[in-house]
Amino acid sequence: MSHDPNCLFCKIAKGEIPSQKVYEDEEIYAFKDINPAAPIHFLMIPKKHIPMLASVEVADAPLLGKMMELAPRLAQEQGCRPGKEGGFRLVVNNGVDGGQEVYHLHLHVMGGPRPCNK
Ligand code: AMP
Ligand code: ZN
Repeated sequence: MSHDPNCLFCKIAKGEIPSQKVYEDEEIYAFKDINPAAPIHFLMIPKKHIPMLASVEVADAPLLGKMMELAPRLAQEQGCRPGKEGGFRLVVNNGVDGGQEVYHLHLHVMGGPRPCNK
């Protein structure tokens, strides 16, 4: 599996840098964001080093599908309310113009009570 020894999130997935683990299987790692932007904010990453959404290949589609299927389950486990009245937000920043800071593909999962009803 491809791995970049200089990549922060590869190091987190391998346990070389500590993180607050939310979930792990053979392909996916999830951990709490160190600087949360919402009451619930965690990141889901493939263990495989994929720099950004724009570098995803067709062969990665099942892995990304698995992450999308897993996200609502983990969001609920982390305290997001289920169903239409609850919910969460999924964000993927892509590239400099997209505000990406860490170049290892990650889904931001954010939820919890909103400060206003906008
Ligand atoms: P992005 O701008 O989409 O690349 O987001 C990178 C995210 O990684 C930011 O929300 C950071 O707070 C988060 N982050 C950076 N370093 C760590 C870390 N060591 N552990 C957990 N989250 C981190
Ligand atoms: Zn990486």
